[in-house]
Amino acid sequence: MALASFDLVGYARRRNEVLPRSRRGASALSPWIRHGQLTLPEVWAAVDGSGADRAKFRDELRWQEYARHLYARIGEGNSEPLRRSLALNARAEIEPWDRSMRCVELNLDELEGDGWMVNQARMWLASQWSVRHGADWRTREDHFFTHLLDGSRAANRLGWQWTTGSGTAKAYGFSQRQVLRRAPGLCDTCQHQHACPIREWPDDPPLAPVDMDPRLQSDPDVGRTAGPEQAELYSTPDAVWLTAESLGDGDPALAAHPRLPAVFVFDLALLSRLRLSSKRLVFMVDRLAELGTLRNLEVYLGDPVRVLAERSLAATFAPVPGWRRRARLLKLAEVHPWPWLERPRSGSLASFSAWSKGR
Ligand SMILES: Cc1cc2nc3c(=O)[nH]c(=O)nc-3n(C[C@H](O)[C@H](O)[C@H](O)COP(=O)(O)OP(=O)(O)OC[C@H]3O[C@@H](n4cnc5c(N)ncnc54)[C@H](O)[C@@H]3O)c2cc1C
Repeated sequence: MALASFDLVGYARRRNEVLPRSRRGASALSPWIRHGQLTLPEVWAAVDGSGADRAKFRDELRWQEYARHLYARIGEGNSEPLRRSLALNARAEIEPWDRSMRCVELNLDELEGDGWMVNQARMWLASQWSVRHGADWRTREDHFFTHLLDGSRAANRLGWQWTTGSGTAKAYGFSQRQVLRRAPGLCDTCQHQHACPIREWPDDPPLAPVDMDPRLQSDPDVGRTAGPEQAELYSTPDAVWLTAESLGDGDPALAAHPRLPAVFVFDLALLSRLRLSSKRLVFMVDRLAELGTLRNLEVYLGDPVRVLAERSLAATFAPVPGWRRRARLLKLAEVHPWPWLERPRSGSLASFSAWSKGR
């Protein structure tokens, strides 16, 4: 549905527009991509359009794939600066996200109210926080994660890493110039319009090299990173285990067992710790409610390992550390392959271009 109504025409030109909303050209497909309702291969194949629009759009899908490869390989290591670290020099008396600035307020309102921000606005806020104010990005990454409907540890952390220059050696600077260009008229509504605190570009911050995780250069265990290539069948399942990564009708384990009940467990401890916004939870509950009209579905709140202890499960591999951690403790009768756009290899993930070259 979301995919069918997306018009790619003008994507390359309008992807970065922020305001007015009618000028935005990005697809807003990411919440469905995040939760596996749309797979990257499926979206890749479905897009039609002119050369430039299609090429740009597919390039963005590859950024998502790169983020997933990185997270699948180094796990929580993606919250540490990858290659370079930005100097921290925040001043306690200054609030990096000053809501009296319209470009900050408006985007935070959209994030907190609708669970959404376009890519450009994510870069603005991330840059304002870390590049101009020298505050630690890891303290604010969670705020995005809590609210974004597409919030993922893979793409969110990569987005912050990219903004701070940690993977590219060049931090992304945010100044009034981008606002005038991408959100024309917004500054006219701002109390700071005649003395804009971001009129000038921020100084290029010093970036210190860090000891790189050796796994960024090569993968010692690609099989572990990528999961099975073919379905692994060990015994007969009595249910299909769904996770937040695998809520699509076409989820391989779900599709393989149309008559088995599907089981989803909201992890109580995780939810208490993450305190996800109600919008995020409603997005998932809506999807589960829809699935429940199509097949037998059981939904629980608790510890997934305990709730599922007696079950023999068919599941689709998910390239996230949480899936592996739980899978080790569950009885998996079948493990189905993750629908990669490009199956992970052992080469460098030190940057998007290094990853692209290694294809
Ligand atoms: C600080 C920061 C935080 C981010 N947090 C997330 C996040 O939690 N989850 C998330 O999915 N994306 C995140 N992104 C990437 C990007 O902003 C979103 O994927 C994009 O804005 C989603 O909107 P869209 O579907 O309209 O994208 P489109 O421009 O229509 O792109 C199509 C698809 O390509 C993928 N994509 C596009 N841009 C990127 C990118 N830069 N990195 C990775 N994948 C991309 C997404 O799956 C997206 O749905 C973040 C970026 C930054 C700078």
